[in-house]
Amino acid sequence: MFKKILIANRGEIALRINRSCQELGIKTVQVYSEADKYSMPVRLADESVCIGPAPSLESYLNIPQILSAAEVTGCDSIHPGYGFLSENPYFAEVCETCNIQFIGPSKEAILLMGDKAKAAGIQVVPGSKTVIKDEGEAKKIAHKIGYPVLIKAVAGGGGKGMRVVWSGDSFENVFNTCQTEAQKAFGNPDIYIEKYIENPRHIEFQVIGDKKGHVIYCPERDCSIQRRHQKLVEETPSPALNGKLRKKMGKMAVKVAEAIDYHTVGTVEFILDPKGNFYFIEMNTRIQVEHPITEMVTGIDLVKLQICMAAGEELRLDQDEISFQGHAIEVRINAEDPEKDFIPSVGEVKEFIVPGGPGVRVDTAIFAGYQIPPYYDSLIAKLITHGRNRKEAIERQKRALREFRIEGVKTPISFFQKIMNEEDFLKGNYNTSYLYQKKLS
Ligand code: ADP
Repeated sequence: MFKKILIANRGEIALRINRSCQELGIKTVQVYSEADKYSMPVRLADESVCIGPAPSLESYLNIPQILSAAEVTGCDSIHPGYGFLSENPYFAEVCETCNIQFIGPSKEAILLMGDKAKAAGIQVVPGSKTVIKDEGEAKKIAHKIGYPVLIKAVAGGGGKGMRVVWSGDSFENVFNTCQTEAQKAFGNPDIYIEKYIENPRHIEFQVIGDKKGHVIYCPERDCSIQRRHQKLVEETPSPALNGKLRKKMGKMAVKVAEAIDYHTVGTVEFILDPKGNFYFIEMNTRIQVEHPITEMVTGIDLVKLQICMAAGEELRLDQDEISFQGHAIEVRINAEDPEKDFIPSVGEVKEFIVPGGPGVRVDTAIFAGYQIPPYYDSLIAKLITHGRNRKEAIERQKRALREFRIEGVKTPISFFQKIMNEEDFLKGNYNTSYLYQKKLS
């Protein structure tokens, strides 16, 4: 087992990783930017090292600084969390070269995923799957797969860098705009095309694998409540799945992981169309924001398992030992103003009163008096509720949202209250267009 882990992230996920390390008896080193000197992760880790100024490029994305911090403090492994360097194959490779275990998949697994899944006969969304260089080629492919199509940036993430094209007439404009935008936002103009599946649900499976090739799946998360392709509410199990479909999709998720020889925790994402057809869209090779709902219903500590798998331990859990109890829902509390098109809201958090009681978990690194820096992602807390059934999980969301007090910055608490009272949501009747159709965003 590892002796000391460097946490190359910030905010709630840094704290989350630290918690599992403490329980496993592993020492932690928290790296931080100048803007995070007084943050909770820095206060709670065993050691901390400043790795640079506030902007991410100079700190949390600064590979040489992170690796020197690991060397100086004698870390044998690095946990990247989500975002930042978590799915950067180059970083995974450099860690390996420096003899530091990267807690995530190998460089090969990150790079080969798409091609290998297709080769293994996994049903993927029809599309190019390879980078498209020019407009003529793009138009040909779009014509072949049929409109509407979705143009996606290769380097995109978190729902960013995607555009729908409804017909051939508007194609040229959108294609060029996408390339320019991708270059600007991600420093990489590469794009590819997929069939746009209308009104689907986003269904994903948590998979866990060890180095001996033993892979299992956990019950699905339904992440269809999205704003501009970004998840806002997640729940497990999905109101749209029955046991039979769960098993079918879960087995497919395992097949994806096996195809790339996956040996850690990951998430296999599918979209499910209204007719019940499902397509693999991508695999996230990291711990995800929404992992706590799976932890609540299965009782598994996914971060602990992730660390143990990376250390080469055997997965001592069989598929039939994975059961789930009740229902869990997570809402993402971003410091954003839902009244003003969700623009980020930064500044000092004047009051911060966290809900509690039965079935309530709050993952956050915020406290009263905390200054939200303008440099990073706007997620400040995740409110997760667990109940014996969906109804109870929703009632607990309503009650916990009422208890939650955050003053000083804008948050979507009242926006989530609306959703928790909305008729179609209560019936479990929604898809990825829900917020748009309900005019809630
Ligand atoms: P990211 O890596 O940015 O999260 P994803 O590929 O996971 O991007 O897609 C994010 C969301 O965009 C999905 O949850 C889904 O709602 C939507 N989406 C992605 N691909 C398609 C598609 N081919 N058709 C319809 N919606 C899609």
